[in-house]
Amino acid sequence: MESKIKLYNTLSHKVETFSPFNPAEVKIYTCGPTVYSQPHIGNFAAYIYWDLLVRTLRANGYGVKRVLNLTDVGHLTSDGDDGEDKLEKGARESHKTVWEVAEYYINAFQKDFRALNLVEPDVTARATDYIKEDMEIVDLLTQKGYTYETSDGIYFDVSKFPKYADFARLDLEGQEWGASGRIELNGEKRNSADFAVWKFIQPGENHAMRWDYFGRPGYPGWHLECSSIIHSILGETIDIHTGGIDHIPVHHTNEIAQAEAAFEKKLAKYWLHCNHLTSNGQKISKSLKNGYTLANLEELKFSPLDFKMWVLQGHYQSERDFTLENLSAAQTRRLKWRNMIARCYQGQETDADFSEILVAVSDNLNSPQAFADIDAVSVANLDFWRQVDELFGLGLLDDAPRLSTEQNEIIERRRLAREQKDYILSDRLRDQLLEQGITILDTSDGQIWQYTA
Ligand code: AMP
Ligand code: ZN
Repeated sequence: MESKIKLYNTLSHKVETFSPFNPAEVKIYTCGPTVYSQPHIGNFAAYIYWDLLVRTLRANGYGVKRVLNLTDVGHLTSDGDDGEDKLEKGARESHKTVWEVAEYYINAFQKDFRALNLVEPDVTARATDYIKEDMEIVDLLTQKGYTYETSDGIYFDVSKFPKYADFARLDLEGQEWGASGRIELNGEKRNSADFAVWKFIQPGENHAMRWDYFGRPGYPGWHLECSSIIHSILGETIDIHTGGIDHIPVHHTNEIAQAEAAFEKKLAKYWLHCNHLTSNGQKISKSLKNGYTLANLEELKFSPLDFKMWVLQGHYQSERDFTLENLSAAQTRRLKWRNMIARCYQGQETDADFSEILVAVSDNLNSPQAFADIDAVSVANLDFWRQVDELFGLGLLDDAPRLSTEQNEIIERRRLAREQKDYILSDRLRDQLLEQGITILDTSDGQIWQYTA
């Protein structure tokens, strides 16, 4: 089938026509959250964009097999190989075990994931369930001569993998590299960009998650889990690998190096990266604690789907600054769409062409254009809105219930009251509906109802 989908591929730095290995099963891997604290709206922006990717593929007739990982070990407080394991730190600060911390935040993540109406991944894989597979990769890399041992772990020697700098167009020699703070110069490393595939736990070090390997306790390097999960579940060379732009210079660069060195196959055909959400111009991050959670937004009377609407109003490759004013505008827009559905219920359906919407999102997930096209339809029809819901997962129809028999009766009684010029009764009936979230408008064509903000 001739693909209608175009995607920006970080690998080629170009928008390419999407062509999967097997259209019936497009293999996608998404780097998941590190489960040591409450996920914020920045994290979910990423999963909302990848939800759009999955839905766009499906709407174009592809089958999808998607894997998401949950990082419950090995992600250190620095992106290099120094610092504390984020899970261990979370456990220490909350006086819980690491396993309890992981369990708690996995549940929190999944609850919000569902509230955002995100398509469930086919497999959700926990890093700690793939330790044996991690070791197999380290063994392979060691046999092939890519690794060396230092006092704090087994390192990947990037000089043995000549393509190492290509993916992120890194300047390994340049100033920029040293100044980025990414790689701490560890005296035992052969090259500053070398990264740990396995870390040793030092005597006296408090690290509850531990596995014996190389004759001593240790744990996997952060990047390794993605390579072993991909290889175990999806096999060699997947179609699409997704993540945030923060993953390009370190995490994905390292994933490619270790997986392609071990298996001698390209890791992924397409690499998609979303940009960041910022707050006051600064990247929202768990460590800065500068991001709202979905629960915070709900306290302010915004539904998770209002937030999803705001995210999809922007393009996944653009940096977006989050403000409550902008969220409020998205909420209003979503209400406007729900009220177009209300018009459909009131017999005002019009023709509308959905194919234009699908064309827009298929062009490198251009949801802002698709949304502008949706705004331009006058009322459309229920079939059109069903397709909009399928493609964006905005829960429009679920949040646009038909009126109950009682509510319809109130409207009819109000019509009669107005006919009889009983305005006291008519106002009382209108207020009664308003309490139930329904606004009545009097137009030259009679009463119409809509959902209230
Ligand atoms: P983490 O839990 O920090 O490993 O992040 C999980 C996912 O959220 C990754 O794909 C990150 O790229 C993404 N992410 C983290 N912060 C932001 C942000 N401010 N905006 C968009 N995506 C983010
Ligand atoms: Zn990853």
